[in-house]
Amino acid sequence: MKPVRSALLSVFIIVLAGSTQFAQQEDAIAQKARKIHFSSIVLDTHIDTTPNLQREGWNFAEEHPTGAVDLPRMKKGGLNGLFFSIYMNGRVTGPKAVNDAVERIAAVHKLAADMPDKVMLCTTAADVRRAHREGKIAALMGMEGGHMINNSLPVLRMYAELGIRYLTLTHSVNTDWADSSGDQPKHNGLTAFGKDVVRELNKLGVMVDISHVADKTFWDALEVSQSPMIASHSSCRAVSGHSRNMTDEMIKALAAKGGVIQINYLDSFIDQKLFEYLQKTTAARTALMEKYGIQFGGGGAGGQDRAAAMAKIREELAAQFGPPPTVSWEKIVEHIDHAVKLVGANHVGLGSDFDGGSMPEGMKDCAQLPKITEALLRKGYSEKDIRNILGGNTVRLLADVERAATRLRTQKKSW
Ligand SMILES: [Zn+2]
Repeated sequence: MKPVRSALLSVFIIVLAGSTQFAQQEDAIAQKARKIHFSSIVLDTHIDTTPNLQREGWNFAEEHPTGAVDLPRMKKGGLNGLFFSIYMNGRVTGPKAVNDAVERIAAVHKLAADMPDKVMLCTTAADVRRAHREGKIAALMGMEGGHMINNSLPVLRMYAELGIRYLTLTHSVNTDWADSSGDQPKHNGLTAFGKDVVRELNKLGVMVDISHVADKTFWDALEVSQSPMIASHSSCRAVSGHSRNMTDEMIKALAAKGGVIQINYLDSFIDQKLFEYLQKTTAARTALMEKYGIQFGGGGAGGQDRAAAMAKIREELAAQFGPPPTVSWEKIVEHIDHAVKLVGANHVGLGSDFDGGSMPEGMKDCAQLPKITEALLRKGYSEKDIRNILGGNTVRLLADVERAATRLRTQKKSW
């Protein structure tokens, strides 16, 4: 062999050896990530699959070609805990809102009753830990919208009895006592009754959820609440300017009082370019939503019908305005990382909004979740921090809110 060729061959061998070693390291990280992920409590605080439970013939135990969450895909994705969202269009009010909310709650109770070996209805941090130990899905419930209490603290107390463990103060429109981020300000945040709702939630041990609320409502709730609060499904406004996301100032204030921001995965929330595209196309989209009987905030057609209609709407908008920017699942990690850099890994978690809207590429369903763990590990996050983000922080928050409630209920009057 000529010396030049032999030198080239040596370089080639060294490069090859180096890349094999690199590939092995990559594999080691992937393996470690899977080990961490599949042994953690992975608890998502906002999943909109609940209406599917109410659909005739829809079976949670079967894998579905559409939608984002069912038992087989939860197993694949290592998702072992979730808050089923008891959500309802904010324009449904009065007794009908209470009736429909109770029916939705009943569907979650029925799921747990029908599959006692697989699903455990949980209302406490201890319940969630037990479900994990027993290899069952921890099913919790969060109520998405204060309108469902029908301006009644006794109704709220009964929801707590039925197992509701957070109340999102508003959905996409104002309630009679709180301003929403999706509406024109009417109350300058929380009314006096709105503040009573927050105090009652504190006493009941139900988390105050500030996702969806107007910024002023957030600040009012933060001032009144004697328990740490949750943002059950919100991302970071510094990364993408959607008003449903939280400013850095809000995230810091939430964390300073022990609260947790649960990062929302919706593509329209997490990507600035898509957010701008959606703003540009708002008027046309509103007209199309009317045409297809879809209402903002989850009203009108629900579940898979809604998803199909939304796909049609996107198609028609693309024909008119060009295709929307695609969003990668890695944006979710960017939001997690932004929040962690602001307030540390003890105040950040996951609140996907699965089955509540369009997900980014690569995160179309909950089976994809291990990617997030792997991405965090590659970023240099510690195992402990990852476990906390996946679910540990939410379990701690539940326990903190329970303790605060016990303290508040037993507090002696000062006179
Ligand atoms: Zn929502």
